[in-house]
Amino acid sequence: MTPSPPSLTDLAEEFGTPLYVYDGDRLREQYRGLRDRLHPDVEFFYSLKANPNLAVTQSLLELGAGAELSSLAELVTAQRAGATGEQMLFLGPGKSREEIAAALAAGACLVAESLAELEVVDAEAARLGITASVLLRINPGFSLKGGGLTMGGKPRQFGIDEETVLALPPAALRHDHLRVSGIQVYMGTRILSADAITENTARILDLAERLATELDFPLDTVDVGGGLGVAYHSKESDLDPGGLTEGLNPVFGKFRAEHPDTRLVMELGRYLTAPAGTYLTRVRYTKRSRGEAFAICDGGTNHHMAAVGIGSPFRRNFPIHQVAARTDELTPWNITGPLCTPNDTLGKDVLLPADLAPGDLIGVARSGAYGPTASPVHFLSHGAPAEVLVRDGRAHLVRRRDTVDDLLDRQFPVKEMEHDRTRG
Ligand SMILES: *Cc1c(COP(=O)(O)O)cnc(C)c1O
Repeated sequence: MTPSPPSLTDLAEEFGTPLYVYDGDRLREQYRGLRDRLHPDVEFFYSLKANPNLAVTQSLLELGAGAELSSLAELVTAQRAGATGEQMLFLGPGKSREEIAAALAAGACLVAESLAELEVVDAEAARLGITASVLLRINPGFSLKGGGLTMGGKPRQFGIDEETVLALPPAALRHDHLRVSGIQVYMGTRILSADAITENTARILDLAERLATELDFPLDTVDVGGGLGVAYHSKESDLDPGGLTEGLNPVFGKFRAEHPDTRLVMELGRYLTAPAGTYLTRVRYTKRSRGEAFAICDGGTNHHMAAVGIGSPFRRNFPIHQVAARTDELTPWNITGPLCTPNDTLGKDVLLPADLAPGDLIGVARSGAYGPTASPVHFLSHGAPAEVLVRDGRAHLVRRRDTVDDLLDRQFPVKEMEHDRTRG
């Protein structure tokens, strides 16, 4: 029998605050909810950018996901989490030679973001004595609304413009040590409309067929990106996996019937990890300033920049609650952190218990994606928070918090040269 999971209060007690808590069971549910409904031939690739924690990555790989990577450290994380070559896709607009070589040596499939990059991949593959399989990232001519950040139809550093690819002579893609074998398109992030996702996907699959025919390359793999969102605010609602797959499955099914040997890939980041994470921060002081109530906590935007509401035209709060509240009488609170900037506000006018006091615990829900690694953790030298993963009723410390030594060990005072000291 699995023990009953520790409460957030217990976890804050045991591991201290500020603390990120990931619920492994919720992670699994989120994965399975979509996996069990989506067309079985579509492979899930987890975008480590959303949460590169080794144990989170490991949990998703154990469920069957591949890994979508954009740096050498992410590549090594995926390898340590057990990923094989076929389970890794490496993309990103500014890959170094070292990263390209490491990805090729690991057997990962590269996604090239420019024609110039193809030359580098070809050279590195030649050095390794292999023929690299490469997908072209396409910046499509169309764009669709429905995402927090939409790509496509715009000048971008990502991918190769659709019209540029279509104007190429097929020979332009031929290299001795690489083989263009499909395309990847990423349309944007935080998409909450099932119709927009379905339409994106249909257009990407069409584009893949068109480009492969015109430029005469095989469609070994088509990666339709993803960008599936989660609701953060009361005005948003979560994607319903049932409704989403009702739209998507016929689109994938039709493509599959015509291309039975093509690998189909979907990239999932935020959608998988966001609902499973809670950021825990403890109130240190409360005060009033010019009529407003402030709860000043031990962690803030230095660990959770996303809570500031970037990407949205006006500020909306993440779901914030008091853990183990004593009263249901609510009043507006500003929840702030330890940084010396007014921007360090996790929540503005959040309705929380009126008796909030030092020592109380605040939880920011839906915080499993774009948390510490997308935040200025080094600002004011507070360092990264601890991270805990709860699985089958047990809490595992999966990242210890930074210590002062962690922060200072890589810095060096200027050393006086011997002759400087002896001079005069
Ligand atoms: C950021 C990114 C993802 C993950 O996006 P989510 O919105 O977190 O799912 C996937 N693919 C690419 C190319 C990305 O840049």
